[in-house]
Amino acid sequence: MGEGAGAVEGVVMADAACRCRLCGAGLSRTFADLRVSPLANSFVPGDGGDRMEPFYPLHVFVCTECWLVQLREFETPSGIFSNYLYFSSFSESWLRHAERYAGDMVRRFALTGDSFACEVASNDGYLLQYLKAAGVRVLGVDPARNVAESAIARGIPTEVAFFGAATATRLRAEHGPADLMTANNVLAHVPDIHDFAEGFHILLGDHGTATFEFPHLLRLIEQNQFDTIYHEHFSYLSLGVVERLFAGHGMEVYDVEEQPTHGGSLRIFVRQAAGDRAPVSDRVTAMRQVELDAGLQDVAAYDRFAAQVVGIKCEALSFLIEAKRAGATVAAYGAPAKGNTLLNYCGIGTEFIAYTVDLNPHKQGTLLPGCRLPVRGPEAIAETKPDYLVILPWNLRDEIVGQMAAIREWGGKFVVFIPELRVF
Ligand SMILES: [Zn+2]
Repeated sequence: MGEGAGAVEGVVMADAACRCRLCGAGLSRTFADLRVSPLANSFVPGDGGDRMEPFYPLHVFVCTECWLVQLREFETPSGIFSNYLYFSSFSESWLRHAERYAGDMVRRFALTGDSFACEVASNDGYLLQYLKAAGVRVLGVDPARNVAESAIARGIPTEVAFFGAATATRLRAEHGPADLMTANNVLAHVPDIHDFAEGFHILLGDHGTATFEFPHLLRLIEQNQFDTIYHEHFSYLSLGVVERLFAGHGMEVYDVEEQPTHGGSLRIFVRQAAGDRAPVSDRVTAMRQVELDAGLQDVAAYDRFAAQVVGIKCEALSFLIEAKRAGATVAAYGAPAKGNTLLNYCGIGTEFIAYTVDLNPHKQGTLLPGCRLPVRGPEAIAETKPDYLVILPWNLRDEIVGQMAAIREWGGKFVVFIPELRVF
């Protein structure tokens, strides 16, 4: 229980001059200042309510030279990821997303038994299992030993390692160049994005493709998704920024798709830039223009965001205060990192929300970091029949509404705070 609670040692500050991790320019422009917060995945053991917790600044800057939105201070990756409580396979909708991806890639790139696919941040093998079932030779790479062991147990070969130039060089020597590389929701979590990108340049074959999925900064801004800001999430990415990153490592983004996951993500397709290549897809040109039209290269768009964040906090607190005064009971669903950002930034504790529930047995019995809501099993909802159920992982809203439909039997209502307060 609560293994993640040990992951608090060894904070490393960004260098004192505070440089952009993409282009090296000085950082001074605030994008969002969520003050101080505990590490979002540092769950407190259920019997650890009397222990202290470290809080770290959660201050996001935008670089006005290259427009990378980034967290200034960070925890060392070994502290954050060495014993991770997130198992991808606990989310049904994410599994379906991975299965569709595998099918699409096998068709698009005509992958066969001779093909080699490598996933970076492969977690518990949730995605590679589908490529393996299609006959593709697969290899996972993940720094968290506990999730990697879970992958190995289901027959997915997995290297316990941080991915970067050194790991890629070793893997290329052992396994050969990759035909397909996958990195979903990991680019934003990497402190050294240059070493990470170089790793793809090293391991990817001359005619291979690497795909990356990441939450789109454009949607974060439009949909008030400030709760996706947490310490493990160093960069907030747009197409323009990742094009610049890969161009610096001999690669190019040649196609892009929008995905509904995580509140609106981009999936980019990246290849080695050298040699004869088909033209870059029109979708890349179109998305560059969408980002430009939305002002992603203009400080005003970033400045507006701070006011939106305060607006959400006011709405959430007003709702909870009113519910409290009316004698209504409120519980929450889910224990995602984004929930911890929201609850801590808004100052919401058990006085407003009695507890939360999560399907992940590793989280049950713990307390959420900072706000210390108890995490219970989903059966607690039927036992206590709350009037309102706040959905913290709003990106899984439809899935959760389906699972929890029984709350209608006692007149219970669902609540989300992002992109705006909705009670339904
Ligand atoms: Zn920069």
